[in-house]
Amino acid sequence: MSRPEPYVGRFAPSPTGPLHAGSLVAALASHLDARAHRGRWLLRIEDLDPPREARGASAAIIDALARLGFAHDGEIVFQSTRDAAYRAAFDRLLAAGHVYPCACTRREVADSALRGALDRPRNAELVYPGTCRHGMPAGREARAWRVRVDAAPIEWRDRRAGASTERLDESVGDFVVRRADGLWAYQLAVVVDDAWQGVTDVVRGEDLRDSTARQVHLQRLLDLPTPRYLHVPVVLDAHGEKLSKQTGAAPIDPHEGVRALNAALAFLGLGEVGAEGPAAFWPEAIARWARSPWMDGG
Ligand code: GLU
Repeated sequence: MSRPEPYVGRFAPSPTGPLHAGSLVAALASHLDARAHRGRWLLRIEDLDPPREARGASAAIIDALARLGFAHDGEIVFQSTRDAAYRAAFDRLLAAGHVYPCACTRREVADSALRGALDRPRNAELVYPGTCRHGMPAGREARAWRVRVDAAPIEWRDRRAGASTERLDESVGDFVVRRADGLWAYQLAVVVDDAWQGVTDVVRGEDLRDSTARQVHLQRLLDLPTPRYLHVPVVLDAHGEKLSKQTGAAPIDPHEGVRALNAALAFLGLGEVGAEGPAAFWPEAIARWARSPWMDGG
């Protein structure tokens, strides 16, 4: 099949802790997919949330990836250096009337969302009820900035799971692009950077599937292309929770080398490679990915 543009993929970890068995799966899947498509693979550190950042985590992630033989193309991009780009995107949304200031506290949103939607599943994300959509109540000050959503369904495709349709007015409501603490929201930054870096294929954990419709909405408002998406399963802990840095997942010991890589490969259903070191692991792992159903639709 001919491809209109060369493949560009990326791994975009948030430095909230070191690389662990869960984030390694996302890193591996995105890297294998890029190499199997003879594409580029970029590394972007999503350090736009200093309060949630763990000291030394960026360096630890970069070091662990290098030792495991992940070779990224180009310079590593740090989102902490990209403020001007996020501001420009925000200003564009503002000028077009797509964003508005919101005075609601988290508590107020939670209270009204619960009152308004008793029939929603218990763990569903709270839907912003639109309190400040037509102006903030008198005497209140702006906290966060939200982007308007409407009832038009957002349609997008996952390479593996297929077509998906989401009505953002029902699932999340107008959502935050600039947080009350003045930081840019992940949803805005990820869209700006994926486009700026020319990313054609986003391969990441299934936990981010729920964010995709919001990202597609922002891409459309900002006239940015929508990449192809592939979401891979996430590693769960003994309690069925996503393995994460926040729940204290053990860091990958890069000296473990192939053992850690093989565990991630097996998790993706591609078995283990009998290799002594990372250098011998990669060609076989890429070949297996290229023959696997993960390549379908890509
Ligand atoms: N920074 C996000 C995370 O570590 C991933 C962003 C993405 O892949 O879209 O969860």
